[in-house]
Amino acid sequence: MERVGCVVVGAGVVGLAVARRLAMAGREVIVLEAEDAIGTGTSSRNSEVIHAGIYYPTGTLRATLCVPGRDALYAYCDSHGVAHQRIGKLIVATAENQMPRFEAIRRQAALNGVDDLTLLSAAEAVALEPNLHCVAALLSPSTGIIDSHALMLALRGDAEEHGAMLAFKSPLVAGRVTDAGIEVEVGGTEPMRIACDVLVNCAGLHAWEAARALEGFPAEHVPPKFLAKGNYYALAHGRSPFARLIYPMPIEGGLGVHITLDLAGQARFGPDVEWVERIEYSVDPARADSFYASVRSYWPGLPDGALVPAYCGIRPKLTGPGQGQADWLIQGPEAHGVPGLVNLFGIESPGLTSCLAIADHVAGLLE
Ligand SMILES: Cc1cc2nc3c(=O)[nH]c(=O)nc-3n(C[C@H](O)[C@H](O)[C@H](O)COP(=O)(O)OP(=O)(O)OC[C@H]3O[C@@H](n4cnc5c(N)ncnc54)[C@H](O)[C@@H]3O)c2cc1C
Repeated sequence: MERVGCVVVGAGVVGLAVARRLAMAGREVIVLEAEDAIGTGTSSRNSEVIHAGIYYPTGTLRATLCVPGRDALYAYCDSHGVAHQRIGKLIVATAENQMPRFEAIRRQAALNGVDDLTLLSAAEAVALEPNLHCVAALLSPSTGIIDSHALMLALRGDAEEHGAMLAFKSPLVAGRVTDAGIEVEVGGTEPMRIACDVLVNCAGLHAWEAARALEGFPAEHVPPKFLAKGNYYALAHGRSPFARLIYPMPIEGGLGVHITLDLAGQARFGPDVEWVERIEYSVDPARADSFYASVRSYWPGLPDGALVPAYCGIRPKLTGPGQGQADWLIQGPEAHGVPGLVNLFGIESPGLTSCLAIADHVAGLLE
C-alpha cells in the first residue's frame, strides 16, 4: 500500500485551496478527484461573486472567514493574474417598508468588519444605474466578480509547484480509521489503496457519503444533508442593463433573485431556491415565470419572454426548508476524535470567496 502524508478528497475550489495550503507548508499531498478535471462540481456552477461578507451572523465561520478570505482572494488575483473586477453591488429596497432592514444589514456588516457600505437615495442610486427602480440602496464597493476557473487553475498550479499531485477519475470509495492513520480505497480505472496521516474531505455535495464511507468514523458526526438547487436565467438578447450587481433584500435560504454579471458583461438572473432530492443539473424554463415579478420590482424594463434558462448549481445544505440558514461545518480531530481527519460539510456560499481562508482554517485544525 502506498503511503502519503495528506490526501485531499475533491478538486473543487476548496480542495484545491486546501491542497495548495498544505503543500506550501511542506506537506506531501495527493488530491483525489472523482471526475476527469478540476472544478466540475459546485465550483463551476455559482454566481462567481467575490462577496464582501455582509450578511453572515456573528460568530459563524461564514462571518469570520469571508472577510479575510475576500481580502486574501483580491490579493491572490492581483498577484496571480486571475481575472476579476471589483465592480460593487447595490442592495435595493423597492418599498418603504423594506427600509428598516438596511439598518440591520449595516449593523451586521459592521460586526463582520465590512465598514464600507454607503446608503444611497433613490436619485443617487439611479444616477449610478439609470435602469434601476428603488426607494433607496446600499452600495457595497468591495463586492466583485471573478473567473472561478482561472482561480482554480492558479490554485492547482501553486499546489503542483509545491509538490502536490492530482489524481483524476480517482474517487474515494471506502476507507478505514486505523491505529496507524487512515487508509483510503480509491476506485476508478486504477483502483489502489493509500495510507495517510491526514485526510481532508472536500467532496462538496458528496462529503456526507465520503465521511460515511470511512469505517471507524463515528456516524453520529455525519450531519443531515439537504440539497437546494439554484437556477440561473440569462437574457435572450442584449447586454446587461446594469454595470453593478443588483441584489434585492435577502430571502430564506438564499440572497434573493439577483442580477450578476460575468466578466464579459453578460447578465445572469438568479439563483432561486429549489429544494431537490438528487443531483441533476437541468433548468426548468417554466421557473423563469416566477422571476419576472421579483426582477421587475427593481428592473421594470425587463421585457416579457426575455429570460432563457442558463445553468444551475446545487447548494450542499445542513438545514432544510423552514429550518433557517446553517453555518458551514468544518470538523477537525477535536470535534470527532479521529486524528488527522477534517470533514467539510455544507460549504455553500461564500465558499468561493473564502477558499483561501477556509484553507488556513483547515491547516490550523491539523496543527
Ligand atoms: C447556486 C450557487 C451560487 C453560489 N454563488 C457563490 C458566489 O457567488 N460566491 C461565492 O463565494 N460562493 C458561491 N457559491 C458557493 C461556492 O460555489 C461553493 O462554496 C464552492 O464552490 C464549494 O467548493 P468545493 O470545493 O467545496 O465543492 P465542489 O466544487 O463541489 O468540489 C467537490 C469536488 O469533489 C469531487 N468529489 C466528490 N466526491 C468525491 C469522491 N468520493 N472522491 C473524489 N472526489 C470526489 C467532486 O467531483 C468535485 O470536484 C455558490 C454556490 C451555489 C450552489
